[in-house]
Amino acid sequence: MKYKAIIANKERQAEVITKELRPLQAGEALLNMECCGVCHTDLHVKNADFGDKAGVTLGHEGIGVVEEVAEGVTSLKVGDRASIAWFFEGCGTCEYCTTGRETLCRSVKNAGYTVDGGMAEKAIVTADYAVKVPDGLSSDAASSITCAGVTTYKAIKVTNIRPGQWIVISGMGGLGNLALQYAKNVFNAKVIAVDINDKQLEFAKELGADMIINPLNDNVGEVIQEKIGGAHAAVITAVAKSAFNDAVDAVRAGARVVAVGLPTESMDLSIPRLVLDGIEVIGSLVGTREDLREAFHFGAEGLVVPKCQSRHMDEINDIFKEMEDGKFTGRMVIEFNK
Ligand code: NAD
Ligand code: ZN
Ligand code: ZN
Repeated sequence: MKYKAIIANKERQAEVITKELRPLQAGEALLNMECCGVCHTDLHVKNADFGDKAGVTLGHEGIGVVEEVAEGVTSLKVGDRASIAWFFEGCGTCEYCTTGRETLCRSVKNAGYTVDGGMAEKAIVTADYAVKVPDGLSSDAASSITCAGVTTYKAIKVTNIRPGQWIVISGMGGLGNLALQYAKNVFNAKVIAVDINDKQLEFAKELGADMIINPLNDNVGEVIQEKIGGAHAAVITAVAKSAFNDAVDAVRAGARVVAVGLPTESMDLSIPRLVLDGIEVIGSLVGTREDLREAFHFGAEGLVVPKCQSRHMDEINDIFKEMEDGKFTGRMVIEFNK
């Protein structure tokens, strides 16, 4: 059977091509795809920022309905809705997989990067690794939570923020607006939204940001130190080195700065600042299957409401361009049955 899929080609453009569906192997399930969100990581993969991945099907915010399962599969059944996330499969037995850090597995498979992802009419998943979407959560909303939601939910967990404390969320795009919602509505923190695009800051205000700062107009570190004596934590989703440096300047002693965005640069880090003020800088990579179940749950409860706009597969290069140019708020979601 043939199906359409979006790949990155050698010319660093996205392209819709026709692929041939292979038979299921043990442990796998076939999904009839409903939708897949477009993450900035797809843009990095398309641009070969982390190496040449031409030919692989893009996408790791995929939601589909189970059409068939291989013999012996018990974790999914026909008719279930399931996700295709960046964390596609771990080995299940290594030091990371067995200690709650499965996204760091050294033999990990990543959807839309090392294995075919969710930007296709059909997709094959490893059934035990595809998290089920709960009833009461729309497929569009679930798609955003499958990467943007779980990644920021996990990153906020990693900050150890407590209710009432201040957190800087730098970058208010697809990830950042969900980070803001998780921080406020789940962790009950006070949020400082930072972005160089005023449109994103307006959106952040609508979502209840307690403070907004545009680094093009104000010095982020100075304003935050002056107003509140430094934030208790920061999560950086912005795709710019300066945002990482700003976040370190914006926090108080003992704070954790959690890095999520992936600009292909190095950040500056003052060693006296790090040592004398006990600042911790930590990278955070997506979330485990359990993190995703939790993140879905808060979406189903209505605490986090992703803003999604439906698009067609053929528009993928337009979407990437609009993302680069900062033209939209929220997430663009490709729908496969339209
Ligand atoms: P996006 O393009 O939707 O949003 C990025 C936002 O950053 C934009 O609103 C942009 O205006 C803002 N920005 C740019 N420069 C800035 C600056 N100097 N200061 C403040 N804000 C600035 O992208 P996205 O889909 O939200 O993804 C963001 C980044 O996170 C990408 O690099 C992506 O690859 C990465 N990512 C990482 C993980 C992970 O597991 N660590 C998971 C998903 C995405
Ligand atoms: Zn992503
Ligand atoms: Zn492993």
